[in-house]
Amino acid sequence: MEKIDLLSLTYEELENYLVENAEKKFRAKQIFDWLHNKKVDDFDDMTNISKECLQKLKETSYLTSMELVKKQVSNIDETTKYLFKLTDGNFIESVFMKYKFGNSVCISSQIGCHMGCSFCASTVNGLVRNLTAGEMLKQIYIVEKDTNERVSNVVIMGSGEPFENYDNVIKFIKNITNPNGLNIGQRHISVSTCGLVDKIYKFADEKTQVNLAISLHAPNDDIRKQIMPIAKKYSIKEIMEACKYYVKVSNRRVNIEYAMMQGVNDSLKDARELAHVLKGLLCYVNLIPVNEIAENEYKKANMSVVNNFARELDKCGIQTTVRRELGSDIDAACGQLRNKQMEEDR
Ligand code: SAH
Repeated sequence: MEKIDLLSLTYEELENYLVENAEKKFRAKQIFDWLHNKKVDDFDDMTNISKECLQKLKETSYLTSMELVKKQVSNIDETTKYLFKLTDGNFIESVFMKYKFGNSVCISSQIGCHMGCSFCASTVNGLVRNLTAGEMLKQIYIVEKDTNERVSNVVIMGSGEPFENYDNVIKFIKNITNPNGLNIGQRHISVSTCGLVDKIYKFADEKTQVNLAISLHAPNDDIRKQIMPIAKKYSIKEIMEACKYYVKVSNRRVNIEYAMMQGVNDSLKDARELAHVLKGLLCYVNLIPVNEIAENEYKKANMSVVNNFARELDKCGIQTTVRRELGSDIDAACGQLRNKQMEEDR
């Protein structure tokens, strides 16, 4: 019999699992507390659970674990990058960021990625597998333990395409927002997608208050196809319609991510075209100079070019922020640390 991955169970699933194993339903509250607040790594640490119940748990389930193998702290802004080794030997990364409004963790949703964006380090070796909900949670739990700080915000913006791992991401969101667990507010969670249109509709219909970010990075389909293979499947027009539906259902503004690459998507003409495309969508644009990485040749747009681009969008009535780069000295762009580790291992 295959063992149950206890940390990945939602609260309801945990209740059902206990009942199926002839245990009392109320035990779910206690066990959920051990898993998600006290963050135990060992069944025997659950001191208020009876021996018999623990025995059953051990026989039929397991606790997700991962090893913290490397930590890089930025000298500039305390941003910390974590490298974890999973039980199957794979590596994943997470980033801890301190802001005035609280602490944020950026988590990975997959090991690698197969979206193939040409500027991204996470995708160069393809997709290995989806992460479980438990493996996504554990990234945050270990960071909380390690920093001794409470995490108040979560961004699902590390390696991987979260909407390719849709069901596990939903379970993750259910668990991290559960009042019996970390109880992070939905509005403090962001999920970023390269634009899987069918999943944007599906996600809207979950009726959450989670922030949706779209990695657009281009003002038209021609440029987008050059840098993002997914553009061959879904047009910007289709993405915009899906975003409007998200706004309608959630009443939330959508974030448009735009990584500026020198000579690729950073002209004033691009800015005006982008503004035109976004007309009528409740959104704001995050401009970020592309992170230059060893895996490709893209150069970041000059800061003056980025600021002019932002001004042009503003003039056209599009709310824009130029995102502060954090952790530029620690390979904080997703995928970089993992790639280095894999090279060292080879
Ligand atoms: N697959 C999802 C989430 C992971 S990528 C998505 O596409 O949104 C997280 C964000 O980092 C995306 O906006 C992605 O386009 C961006 N990104 C990837 N590589 C980058 C780089 N080298 N510089 C700047 N942003 C990058």
